[in-house]
Amino acid sequence: MTKYSQLFLFLFTLSIFASKPNIFFIFSDDHATQAISAYGSKINSTPNIDRIANEGIRFDRCLVTNAICGPSRATILTGKYSHLNGFYKNDMYFNGDQVTFPKLLRKAGYQTAVIGKWHLATLPTGFDHFEVITGYGGQGKYYHPIMNKNGKPTNYRAYTTEIITELNMDWLKNQRDPTKPFMLMMQHKAPHRAWLPSAKYMNAFKDKKFPEPSNLHTNYKGKASHVKKQDMMIKDSMNPGDLKLTPPKYLDGADLANWHEAYDDENAAFAKAKLSGKALRSWNYQRYIRDYVRCVQSIDDSIGEVLAYLDESGLAENTLVIYSSDQGFFLGEHGWFDKRFMYEEALRTPLVMRWPGKIKAGSSNSLIVSNLDFAQTFLDVAGVTAPDEMQGASLLPLMRDKKPKNWRSSFYYHYYGYPDWHLVQKHCGVTDGRYKLIHFYTTDEWELYDMEKDPRENQNRASDPEFKSILDTMRKKLTHQRIQLKVPSDQELIEKFKNLEKENSYLKWGVKKK
Ligand code: CA
Repeated sequence: MTKYSQLFLFLFTLSIFASKPNIFFIFSDDHATQAISAYGSKINSTPNIDRIANEGIRFDRCLVTNAICGPSRATILTGKYSHLNGFYKNDMYFNGDQVTFPKLLRKAGYQTAVIGKWHLATLPTGFDHFEVITGYGGQGKYYHPIMNKNGKPTNYRAYTTEIITELNMDWLKNQRDPTKPFMLMMQHKAPHRAWLPSAKYMNAFKDKKFPEPSNLHTNYKGKASHVKKQDMMIKDSMNPGDLKLTPPKYLDGADLANWHEAYDDENAAFAKAKLSGKALRSWNYQRYIRDYVRCVQSIDDSIGEVLAYLDESGLAENTLVIYSSDQGFFLGEHGWFDKRFMYEEALRTPLVMRWPGKIKAGSSNSLIVSNLDFAQTFLDVAGVTAPDEMQGASLLPLMRDKKPKNWRSSFYYHYYGYPDWHLVQKHCGVTDGRYKLIHFYTTDEWELYDMEKDPRENQNRASDPEFKSILDTMRKKLTHQRIQLKVPSDQELIEKFKNLEKENSYLKWGVKKK
């Protein structure tokens, strides 16, 4: 090849890459739509997340396939349900040999990076650069995180949300190759349990009284037996660390002094009051939500910072920015914290996107979309054909305000993590937006909800004669979905889990650690 043709090839390649949009995926852990003002939050304000929605699109019905941290991440990477990507529950090892969207983007000339929480036990594959939180089962700590940077442990002395932001900014500014399009995943740890705020917000919202959800003090009447036996109750399941009655062992110096300043007086008053029953639940709720919101404010600041950089650097125009969370979260609804159940607060996750000139500012969409669709969406945006085995659909037409024919009208869900933290039994279900059917298949118990008349899902209609035909229709939808999605039978799943539960060794389930 002559020097001239080499130069031509270089410029040609550069022009192709220059036209490809960057993808900046901003992700958090356990951030419920109820704590985002763009979704009508009654408890806080998130101006920077709202900015993405106001300058782009808000998806109002983004549902997750399995409402728990690791499995959601595995679904996002692979575009497949848990039963096909092999990552059913936390504390397994993700098989990084399988096809993922970052690998396909990288092959198509993208520079790929993931910085922040990973939580899939095996190290990331398909990335030019990774720096991910380690320790505490992949959860890491709110302060002074230990991270794995391209295979090497690195220690930081900082608040985790802030250092994750700084590392992402540094990669964007100083480390990436500016001649290539990028796909960057900035993945926050917050606002995961145990909701430890930054120094900036540790004393914030002290006088604010948060409104209680209408079913905070519910008695679970009419629900499946398993629902009553969970261990995620605001009144009874929170530990002293969750409630900030004791400081985390890893806090020291000024951080520990801040902690005492924020909580000591309130804790002394609490000890003196000797609360019980409803009053105790209400007190725990206020403490929980205050800390949760404090953590969310740091996430919102992070987003403000990166959006400002995209503006300054001129990258904003050609960058698709996405904000989402691995699943929703209960903020007191049903008396709970945590997620896992197919109820709306956990099932539904935030999804907002901005892409100037491509997505109409201030738009919204209420079709059923999913974290199952993210991989195909990002591939489509990059002009890469998605493999047939991926089970979602590209959201690109929806982002352009088109309503594709045959868009999904019902959605399948499956939670596998029992026994595990919070003791939520395995269940699957289907929703069409109007009705929701849930099957606790280990005891063959059913729940049916009319989402229009009972959006909080308080009244189980599964045994109500008036809902008999709806129950039959929803059961057919569930069967149909399972066939379409190649889900093993209940019996096969029960057998598979039984052997593993007997061994009481969940880490043996799935691929072996490399
Ligand atoms: Ca999570």
